[in-house]
Amino acid sequence: MRSTYVAHVLPLDDLDAALELLAEHREAARIIAGGTDILIEMERRIRTPRVLIDITRIPGLDGITQKDGTIHLGPLVTHNQVAGSATCVQEAYPLACACWQVGAPQIRNRATVAGNLITASRQTTRSHRCGRWTPV
Ligand SMILES: Cc1cc2nc3c(=O)[nH]c(=O)nc-3n(C[C@H](O)[C@H](O)[C@H](O)COP(=O)(O)OP(=O)(O)OC[C@H]3O[C@@H](n4cnc5c(N)ncnc54)[C@H](O)[C@@H]3O)c2cc1C
Repeated sequence: MRSTYVAHVLPLDDLDAALELLAEHREAARIIAGGTDILIEMERRIRTPRVLIDITRIPGLDGITQKDGTIHLGPLVTHNQVAGSATCVQEAYPLACACWQVGAPQIRNRATVAGNLITASRQTTRSHRCGRWTPV
């Protein structure tokens, strides 16, 4: 029988506090954003962090901005935000298209592009329908 596995979840509203906790717990900690990958990985024991640092309440991390020809996606930007962003549709159409193809609407509303990249999922770097690659 498998033993019960519980991680401490630390919801924060301050970026500096999150960075301090990451520095303190190092590899024993993982950030949780949308939770669509990490919770499954924990259930399957692929990852077993002792501490989950919940960054979803930290303000200012969910913006899409453009400066000097570069589009910046904040760490809490979801796939639906990218798919619905005029900036991304106009300037990074393959990325917007790929985000539109991820999962179902509920997943796209919750799952972040950053989390997808950390998991190293290939979906957001490629779009079959658009037929092009886009650098991220
Ligand atoms: C039903 C279902 C369907 C799916 N369909 C698809 C699909 O079609 N295509 C596809 O590509 N994926 C799909 N996924 C996978 C998943 O939704 C994505 O990989 C998602 O984008 C992960 O983002 P998240 O915010 O949920 O990440 P989380 O689960 O919160 O985190 C994922 C990883 O990234 C780390 N992390 C998150 N944010 C940060 C940060 N800011 N800094 C450092 N580390 C960070 C976490 O510690 C964790 O290791 C699906 C998942 C489900 C459950």
